[in-house]
Amino acid sequence: MFCEKCGKEISENETICSNCGNKVETIDPPQEVEKKELGILSILGLIFVCVPAIIVFILTFVF
Ligand SMILES: [Zn+2]
Repeated sequence: MFCEKCGKEISENETICSNCGNKVETIDPPQEVEKKELGILSILGLIFVCVPAIIVFILTFVF
């Protein structure tokens, strides 16, 4: 990752920029967003699997 203040490359285990002393925050929220997106994708996947199954189930009853 890079320092927001001076743009110097900082290793991931460092929390303070060695060049300007700026405090570098580790980026955790995007990982949570990815988890949420995966949850939505799994729900969408379930809908795409379940809806055709329900339609076929109803059609077998109607006809
Ligand atoms: Zn810096």
